[in-house]
Amino acid sequence: MHRSGAWLTALILIGLVLGGIVGEVLHANQQEETVAAMMSWGDLILIRPLKALVIPIVLFSVLVGVTSIGNPSRLGVIGGATLVYYLATMLSAVVLGAVLVTSIRPGEGLPPETVASLQSAGVAEFERQEALRSRIEDASDLGMGGAWSSIVDQLVPANVFEEMVAVRPLGVIVFALALGLALAAGGSAATPAIRVIASLFDALMRLVRWIIWLTPIGVFLLVAGTVGRIGMAELVGPMAKYMLTVVVGLAIHGFIVLPLVLWFFVRINPFGFMWRMRRALLTAFGTDSSSATLPVTIETAQVEAGCSKRASGFVLPLGATVNMDGTALYEAVAVVFLFQLFGVELTLTELVVVVITATLAAVGAAGIPSAGLVTMVIVISSVNTSLAGHSDAALPMAAIGILWGVDRILDMCRTTVNVWGDAVGARIITQIAPDEEPNDEAASASAI
Ligand code: ASP
Repeated sequence: MHRSGAWLTALILIGLVLGGIVGEVLHANQQEETVAAMMSWGDLILIRPLKALVIPIVLFSVLVGVTSIGNPSRLGVIGGATLVYYLATMLSAVVLGAVLVTSIRPGEGLPPETVASLQSAGVAEFERQEALRSRIEDASDLGMGGAWSSIVDQLVPANVFEEMVAVRPLGVIVFALALGLALAAGGSAATPAIRVIASLFDALMRLVRWIIWLTPIGVFLLVAGTVGRIGMAELVGPMAKYMLTVVVGLAIHGFIVLPLVLWFFVRINPFGFMWRMRRALLTAFGTDSSSATLPVTIETAQVEAGCSKRASGFVLPLGATVNMDGTALYEAVAVVFLFQLFGVELTLTELVVVVITATLAAVGAAGIPSAGLVTMVIVISSVNTSLAGHSDAALPMAAIGILWGVDRILDMCRTTVNVWGDAVGARIITQIAPDEEPNDEAASASAI
């Protein structure tokens, strides 16, 4: 490992721990303005520079990947394997979440007065958080059908520049795939363009390596802002069992299920690979956004963790948008928890509805903070519809407000698992699509 790399990891960890401590002190002293200021500084210092690179990196990484694969039928095999991987791991995450929440039952057994106060505070919070409320209402108006047709619309962009401006990566990925195939089919006339694209992509990666040095301070500010707003006391409050269920589920998926899948397909030490991906995982934890983390994920996967450009150039950008194991698991736990809290018993049919819709809602969630909280409304309304067939119980949309207070902390954890799922996918697909010449840095990194 390069010495600077070790330094950087140590600094990020120090930023994380210090952020937690400073945040808790600020929370105890009710320094709300300072907390809000730290959050905006964190946004300015780390999230905005990363976000600025997302669309250029999506475009160039897919182009580099596709032009080096060349053959459309090979691309079909890689694409198919990637989609099967995404779907299988998300389904396993969501089933794990459903099993845990129905066995631990975090929403049951609370004193009635606690339940009543959680419910009324949740509704009040829902009313107060205007921006979040309007996002949830929009998602609810769109419904499941609308969410899917919006994905389909994005897949067939009428104007790729509009998609870039709106930071909707799906359309950009489709455009880059098509352009990449056309370039690959262009023979020697296309070679100069392919070289330029490869060299621009290298320059973008260099930019990412510079920005990564802002991670320790950015993570410090963002974690201090989060802990300062929520406070550690929440960890032992009435939401504790719910939070624990989510965290245990994410831990089982991240430390057992995904490592087993990786070991099964690639036969490498999964924890060694996790260690090499640490910078991306810590950035995901600090920023709450798989999309903002994407530049770091690609850089770390290709340079440190031995993933090929061919595989990761395509698997990671798509994964940051659609593959969200952590979010899928979280949505299942959160929805069933809310129904438990409102005393509504779910039958097996409703649990199946939860499993299917939570997977789809996670696919539809953007890689930004609280996206999972917003698309959860799709799961809730599907379960309400299924319940309507045999009971008059239904969960009000405002119940989502109950989750808002502690959501950011859980979002940090599920975003980390989302990025970890993408990285494991990239490593597995590297087996099918290795680069012609594995790069030296990756080779030396894997010797650690
Ligand atoms: N913040 C998550 C992500 O960016 C999405 C979510 O809210 O679950 O991956």
